[in-house]
Amino acid sequence: MTTTTSTILESITVPADHGRAIPDAATRETIGHAPVHDPAHLDTLVRRARSAQPAWAALGHEERSRVLNAIATEIEASAEELAVILSREQGKPLDGPNARFEIGAAAVWTRSAADIPLEPEVVVDDGGQRAEVHHDPLGVVAAIGPWNWPVMIAVWQIAPALRMGNTVVLKPSEYTPLSVLALAEVYNRHLPEGVLSVIVADRGIGSALTKHPDVDKIMFTGSTATGRRIVEASASNLARLTLELGGNDAGIVLPGADVAAIADDLFWGIFINTGQTCAALKRLYVHDSVYDEVVDALAERARTMPMGNGLVPGNVLGPLQNQQQFDIVSRLVEDARAAGGRVVAGGEPAPELGPLFYRATVVADVEDGTSLVDEEQFGPAIPVLRYHEVDDAVRRANASEQGLGASVWSADRDEALAVAKRLAAGTVWINKHGTLDPRVPFGGTKASGYGQEFGVAGLKAVAAPKVIAY
Ligand code: NAD
Repeated sequence: MTTTTSTILESITVPADHGRAIPDAATRETIGHAPVHDPAHLDTLVRRARSAQPAWAALGHEERSRVLNAIATEIEASAEELAVILSREQGKPLDGPNARFEIGAAAVWTRSAADIPLEPEVVVDDGGQRAEVHHDPLGVVAAIGPWNWPVMIAVWQIAPALRMGNTVVLKPSEYTPLSVLALAEVYNRHLPEGVLSVIVADRGIGSALTKHPDVDKIMFTGSTATGRRIVEASASNLARLTLELGGNDAGIVLPGADVAAIADDLFWGIFINTGQTCAALKRLYVHDSVYDEVVDALAERARTMPMGNGLVPGNVLGPLQNQQQFDIVSRLVEDARAAGGRVVAGGEPAPELGPLFYRATVVADVEDGTSLVDEEQFGPAIPVLRYHEVDDAVRRANASEQGLGASVWSADRDEALAVAKRLAAGTVWINKHGTLDPRVPFGGTKASGYGQEFGVAGLKAVAAPKVIAY
């Protein structure tokens, strides 16, 4: 097992009588105590961010990019320490597409935000008139994140915001404050005072942050229910919004798909981060002709993929991060079973591994209208639905109120493209699901939110467009 001695952990935790105990997701032992901030602290941090912003903006793109690149190098140098904190607090194993992968992505996305060019756009230049669109800083950005990919998602929010000359007040999920404090500790080795702060607080203070008169932009990633509350809150300060909300991504396996060739990518499209991923595959529609083969391939992997304590080498699936999510997954699987679903793998907790472990679960022969299909499970349980006509599969995939991602699985590129064009989602992948690239814009449609992150679109989302015409 990897050593857990950490100077970063020591520097971000507080004495037990001053903080809140944060459990190890796998063992439930206390990792350390996180600070508990109050409303007065929130006000201090936002005002400090406001006063630090003009000088940070005045540094210009080149210097801010240099600082962000230095931070990316620093993340790489501290990667193992950060990954261990993340693995213990969130539960995701060090190995597989999990904690080490997430810290690697934090460095990659920091570098990308630093390096993407963004020049003023000339929209008219006809000899007589010229009009240019410039991108000014907005001011203070509030970044509010979830507990599933806490470090990577924090970087998605803060790195573009800082690059564009904003300052940031970051509010992590109450379930994963230590991972985000650890990230901020590394960032702050290179940032001037007040440019990036973390408020460690409950939802009430999160709500106060979204209404604060000195907040100009809210980058929010979390559930659709909270997203709706933030839209209401932003009526008071007219903060701009980027909302990355819940997903219930459908995948469609077309007739003729090469099941052996796609099975591993299908499995990880579903079970990445033990299913606790916004843009994971959450409903799988499979053509009758390959249905049994797909169910068997997924069930075989679900039964044998190593699950356990994240610090033990070789484990690639972990626990649910918290009791609430464990209860949701258990309820949805029981509902599916009661509705006649055939549990072909898992379907029960794994108490011998720890209190919040739930076996990787595949439920066949479920129908639309079952809660496991209609609700976001956000955990290791996939309903596999049968279809006969592609039109019917497209209609059922699009019937959700969510529209984050979707995928089409096929041996025929043109057929897959034709189906992809008909799916209502922010991203449609072909023969993969959930793979992200810092150059490619990412965001949802329908109740999965609005606004885009990454690439040029992501930089513009944290800037105020300003036209200069002459
Ligand atoms: P959540 O909405 O419960 O909490 C998210 C954050 O919002 C937390 O920091 C929480 O403290 C804060 N919060 C809660 N109420 C608030 C309020 N009224 N005002 C301001 N802040 C408030 O979500 P969660 O359970 O942490 O995350 C899981 C959800 O996030 C899933 O639905 C998942 O699909 C979604 N998600 C979406 C994306 C994406 O990119 N679209 C990425 C990851 C997770």
